[in-house]
Amino acid sequence: MEAATLRPVGEIASYHAHVYFDPESEWEHALALRAGIGERFAVRLGRVWDRPVGPHSRAMYQVAFAPAVFHVFVPWLMLNNGGLSILVHPNTTNPRRDHLHDAVWIGTALSLAGEVLPDDQAADLAGEPNTTPHKAP
Ligand code: ZN
Repeated sequence: MEAATLRPVGEIASYHAHVYFDPESEWEHALALRAGIGERFAVRLGRVWDRPVGPHSRAMYQVAFAPAVFHVFVPWLMLNNGGLSILVHPNTTNPRRDHLHDAVWIGTALSLAGEVLPDDQAADLAGEPNTTPHKAP
């Protein structure tokens, strides 16, 4: 790869973490993790889906966060996933590439229905945090 083709990190407007779970057996654990996130990080917690939605093949919730949060939040998820699968992907102008090729998985990687994702759209910003962190990570 020529240096001229390397992409600058500034392309990343925000990140998502998608936390997947089995509603039958992992609901309580997944929601406890969600509460723990809200107590520790200035992020935007999305709604909890009890069924597959969009490209996501299992129940999950989304956590949107700014690039400045990544360096503490993602290591914290590594230590605290408790066996859940978590997809962390950047948000640039290409959601399909963000999810399918440029993401990292914590825990077991799952399949994604990437064909439903556009390959060109305005990059998602993290939005205003809706949490009130008061505990140290
Ligand atoms: Zn996402």
